[in-house]
Amino acid sequence: RTLDGTRIEMFANLGSVADAEAAVREGAEGCGLLRTEFLFLERETAPTRDEQARDYQAIADVLGDRPMIVRLLDVGGDKPAPYMDLPVEENPALGLRGIRVSLADPQLLEDQVGAILSVRQPCRIMAPMVASLSELEAVRAVVERQGGKAEVGVMIETPAAAISADILATKADFFSIGTNDLTQYTLAMDRGNAAVAAGVDGLHPAVLRLIGATCDGAAKHDTPVGVCGSLAADRLAVPILLGLGVTELSVPPARVAAIKALVGKLDMAKCRAAAIHALALPSAAAVRARITNMLQEIGA
Ligand code: PEP
Ligand code: MG
Repeated sequence: RTLDGTRIEMFANLGSVADAEAAVREGAEGCGLLRTEFLFLERETAPTRDEQARDYQAIADVLGDRPMIVRLLDVGGDKPAPYMDLPVEENPALGLRGIRVSLADPQLLEDQVGAILSVRQPCRIMAPMVASLSELEAVRAVVERQGGKAEVGVMIETPAAAISADILATKADFFSIGTNDLTQYTLAMDRGNAAVAAGVDGLHPAVLRLIGATCDGAAKHDTPVGVCGSLAADRLAVPILLGLGVTELSVPPARVAAIKALVGKLDMAKCRAAAIHALALPSAAAVRARITNMLQEIGA
């Protein structure tokens, strides 16, 4: 809880059973992002539905009754999957990646959704790299056809998703902002390219405005908004994210305790004021300087 008593959920990003054990040890309340790619990478053949089901169940068992958000396969772009025979593309970051891969391979999606729905604890399903409502509808159709009752949410990683959040919110149970990709696509700067790395900062006011637009669009339909990109674990970003309307933060297990402690020192009225101010600043550097001062003033 913040100083004024506002409840913020503290989740962890996971990719393995070991991560889940660390998350529980560190006091995470659930999993805000299970990166299922770990199952698909570094192997020669696709994991079967049963193999996936066993792996998801093993992680859910460590979490117990804590909620778990499972992200559908997010390969392509900077995340290769050798045996999948993805096409060689001139612009992989703008090509077949994220949910587009699953929609291009219906059996892959059916198997993964089936595996997730078989987990004994109810899981939430999240689609990566969504740009249009039709992608969410397609995933929901698969869940419903399989008789599943899972909540279905959207990762906000493209400027298209952020700016049309009010439309996506009509059909999404929740949003989780992937600030790593949202930053890359907003600034048109490759997240893996060292030559532009210095500029790839999620506190750029353009990115913050899209996060604000996401929260505003979500609020029209009472859709909860979390952040699972690395901005959630950045001390200087947390006051702004809360001020813009984010109510769940998902961070690497090792960052859970520190971010929880920080949230406990924040006051929502001050966070809202800081967010409004940040949106009008000229640069990420100016935002960082401003929030550094704010945290110093409150002794955080
Ligand atoms: C993101 O893009 O912010 C995110 C959480 O997904 P990944 O880093 O796995 O692309
Ligand atoms: Mg991403």
